[in-house]
This record gives sequence, C-alpha cells and structure tokens, in this order.
Amino acid sequence: MASYDIGIIGGGPGGYVAALRASQLGLRTALFERDRVGGVCLNWGCIPSKALLKNAEVVNLVREAEAWGIRAENVSFDLGAAVDRSRSVVEKIVSGVEGLLKDANVDVVQGSAALGGPRVVTCGGVRHEVKNIVIASGTSSRNLPGLVPDGRVVLSSKDAVVLRKVPKHAVVIGAGPVGVEFGHLWASYGAKVTIVELLDANGAPVAPEAQSDTVLPQGDLDLALGALPGVRYRTRPVTSPSLDRQLRPIGHSIARNLTQTAIGMLSISPTWLSCPVA
Ligand SMILES: Cc1cc2nc3c(=O)[nH]c(=O)nc-3n(C[C@H](O)[C@H](O)[C@H](O)COP(=O)(O)OP(=O)(O)OC[C@H]3O[C@@H](n4cnc5c(N)ncnc54)[C@H](O)[C@@H]3O)c2cc1C
Repeated sequence: MASYDIGIIGGGPGGYVAALRASQLGLRTALFERDRVGGVCLNWGCIPSKALLKNAEVVNLVREAEAWGIRAENVSFDLGAAVDRSRSVVEKIVSGVEGLLKDANVDVVQGSAALGGPRVVTCGGVRHEVKNIVIASGTSSRNLPGLVPDGRVVLSSKDAVVLRKVPKHAVVIGAGPVGVEFGHLWASYGAKVTIVELLDANGAPVAPEAQSDTVLPQGDLDLALGALPGVRYRTRPVTSPSLDRQLRPIGHSIARNLTQTAIGMLSISPTWLSCPVA
C-alpha cells in the first residue's frame, strides 16, 4: 500500500493544479485520473474549442479577403483539418501538463478511484493511504429528456468538438457559451445554425420582440433567436412526451436535412426550449 500526504481524485484543471501546488508545498502527492490529465477543459472543452474558434476566425477573415485587398480564389474550408489541428494543440498542452506533474514528483495513478475509507483511496484494486483527500472529479453533461446524444444526430459537446463534417443545418439547444461557440464555428464553415434559448442574459424568459437581439445575430441570421417569424412563444420545461412536438416547428428544415447530413442537434446544457404555442 502506497502512502501519501494528499490524494487528489480527478486530474482536470481543479485537480492537477492542486496536485502541483501540494507538491510545491512539500507534500507527497498522488493524483488519481481515470482518463488523461487535463480533464474536460484541456481534452474536450476550453482548449480544443478555442483552437476551433481560431479556425473560425481565420475562415471569416478569408471570406472577407477582398475587403483587405486580397484576392483568394478556389478557397475551401476543411473542418476535419481544423479538428486535427485542435487535437494537436490538445496533445501539446496535455503532454506539457504531464511533464509538469512528472517534474513536480506527483504520482499520477491511472484508473478510476474511489474512497475506500476515511483515509484510503482505492484505484485499480490497490489501496492507497492518504492523509488528506481532494475530490476534483468534475461534472457530467446534462441531457434533455428524450434527447440523449447518440453521436450521430444528437451531439454532446464532446461529439461536437471532434465533428469533422459541417452540418447543413444544426440546431443548438442552449445559448450558453458552449452552444454559442459551436454555433458560431459551424456557421463560419457555412452551416445554417439555429440556437434555441429562452432565457435572457439575466435568466429571465426573452420577450418575443427582443429575441432577435439576444444571440450573435451578426454571425448568421438564424443565430439570432426568434428565427421563426410570426410565431408566438412561451416558456416551458422540456419533457419527453412533448419534446418531439416542441421541436418540430423549429426542426422543420432539420428533418428535411437530416438524411443528407446525419447531423441534427447539439444538446448542450439545455434549460428551456423556446417553443411556439400550438
Ligand atoms: C466545449 C467546452 C468549452 C469550455 N470552454 C471553457 C472556457 O473557455 N473557459 C472555462 O473556464 N471553462 C470552459 N469550459 C468548462 C471547463 O471545461 C470546466 O469548467 C473544467 O474542465 C472543470 O474542471 P474540473 O477539474 O473541475 O473538472 P474536469 O475537467 O471535468 O476534470 C475532472 C477529471 O476527473 C476525472 N475523474 C472523475 N471521476 C474520477 C474517478 N472516480 N477516478 C479518477 N478520475 C476521475 C475525469 O476523468 C476528469 O479528467 C468548457 C467546457 C466545455 C465542455
């Protein structure tokens, strides 16, 4: 049985920074990670999404090349190549963190850890004695009832960050930062994107007359809320039995395009759906 001053469960930004600091302070430190250090942020979240957004910026610059006095002909945009680039950025940063942990003499213990007693962490069938425990196991994404990501039609953010083919039409459910980032990325690559969100910046339901101003209206008209003219709105929580009916008015063109693209919706931190009153 190995023994440590501190055992940290989870090697995301919460866990690996704590491990580095604990080690700097002279504590014998174990970091338990079941996947790869860096957690969601470095592997599937902040880092790859920001790398992709950089691509979106370049794509938009190239689209405007003429305004800059640059003639670019026969230009094509390859989302797959952007994903490859983002994965190489991830690789570089994650291996950098692995190096930092090694240099700091943090023991990275690979496997799914569990509490085995007041001062015991078990991992891979091995018991580790730890004087102090930090749980930094992160979060998991929330699904809409009836809209479970399948990696094909309904995507999670983890699916979206490695999506290589630009959807013809994507509906993003939830206009939080993550949803807006992916909406902007795909719209930059030519997708028709609709973001669905009912809460305004203060968390209040968006009044119909204000909807077109709420989400990135300049990127893509459909990125603005209320892309369904002449429709009345009301708020309601999404529930499985009525989900299909609630989505149908928004999904009119999605359904048409699904067979062509096999990509439909990105379900991210959904809260409420904006849905027309029948
Ligand atoms: C697409 C996207 C973009 C984002 N962009 C940003 C951004 O720009 N800025 C920002 O601040 N935040 C951003 N976030 C949020 C950010 O990723 C999280 O806030 C951050 O990852 C939380 O860090 P954490 O260490 O608490 O948890 P996590 O990063 O989730 O790490 C937890 C780790 O614990 C491990 N773990 C869990 N249980 C166990 C167990 N039993 N045993 C061993 N290991 C275990 C997991 O494998 C994981 O590696 C984004 C998220 C997403 C999805």
